[in-house]
Amino acid sequence: MTDRTENQSTAVSFAVRRHAEPLGVPERTKLLTDPGFGRVFTDHMAVVRYTEGKGWHSAEITARKPLLLDPASAVLHYAQEIFEGLKAYRLGDGSLAMFRPDANARRFQQSAKRLAMPELPSEIFISSIRELVNIDRDWFPTVDGGSLYIRPFMFANEVFLGVKPASEYLYLVILSPVGGYFKGGAPAVSIWVSQHYTRAAPGGTGAAKCGGNYASSLVAQAEATKHGCDQVVFLDAVEHRWLEELGGMNVFLVFNDGTLQTPPLSGTILPGITRDSLITLARSEGLTVREEPYAIDQWRADANSGRLTEAFACGTAAVVTPIGRVASPDGEFKIGAGGPGQITSRLKQKLVDIQHGKAPDPHKWVYRIG
Ligand SMILES: *Cc1c(COP(=O)(O)O)cnc(C)c1O
Repeated sequence: MTDRTENQSTAVSFAVRRHAEPLGVPERTKLLTDPGFGRVFTDHMAVVRYTEGKGWHSAEITARKPLLLDPASAVLHYAQEIFEGLKAYRLGDGSLAMFRPDANARRFQQSAKRLAMPELPSEIFISSIRELVNIDRDWFPTVDGGSLYIRPFMFANEVFLGVKPASEYLYLVILSPVGGYFKGGAPAVSIWVSQHYTRAAPGGTGAAKCGGNYASSLVAQAEATKHGCDQVVFLDAVEHRWLEELGGMNVFLVFNDGTLQTPPLSGTILPGITRDSLITLARSEGLTVREEPYAIDQWRADANSGRLTEAFACGTAAVVTPIGRVASPDGEFKIGAGGPGQITSRLKQKLVDIQHGKAPDPHKWVYRIG
């Protein structure tokens, strides 16, 4: 019997093999003026291997290059894959910092557990990012509001078609300089209520950050686009009635009595770190935040009566995005004035200020990279 978390050295040190031909400065500078989202990548990547019985090994920072995968690699068939998403921000003094990477490390372990994968020690998760960001720090985008998007991920690469948890895994980190997620800042988005498709069912993988959840959400997102909406929102799988989340963002509602509400972490919702941070910030301001189920019919009624004044989606990539319009086959409704509301804007600003070192950080969320 092998215990996957036992006997593993957490003090993995990274061998650094610098890229022999990094991108030239003029080319890099050009890319960094308008990087968009997830299209531009830095020169290096972090790699750590896992082998059953041996644990985590062969950690290195190396040139970012295509991977060689055997066509029978388990991930290509049974989708044992998880990922994370966080950002490095530039602080006022020019240094770079990560936001709550310990929370991402913990969530990566939870996701691994659900997908029957080995849990990566937090120290390795955080040091892999620290080392990689340090070596590629010249890739920090020059565009206003830019950041380095950090994408850690892990997948099964055992060459075997049998259905079982794989015995070999690859953990990698890549970096993508990004501007704003939505072009032109964060205008209010329109969302489509998916009535046929669900994202996650009780007992399923909804609380894990795995690629499979995204694969199954794409057809619903395509339906939203077809109906002229920016994003899809999913309802619960049992009653098709309770608001859950967007394909990649959690949802909040703001009421005219100044209270907030967000669906509870019932196991079918991804526990967002932005969600958690906003709850903490709102409560520390004295605002009431309820983590309670909210029905789609109630949403329509509250929006029409004026009881609901604001709604927003949140996640690392886009931070906070106001929701201005909700559409479904039953018709549509607008929220508030259709733009960013006061409480939405204030909470967003508060979070962004902490992330960029412009406001005190009482919760010790900011990790300086150097
Ligand atoms: C990543 C993700 C979120 C947001 O999580 P953050 O930690 O705030 O970035 C929300 N929903 C889903 C489905 C996600 O994958």
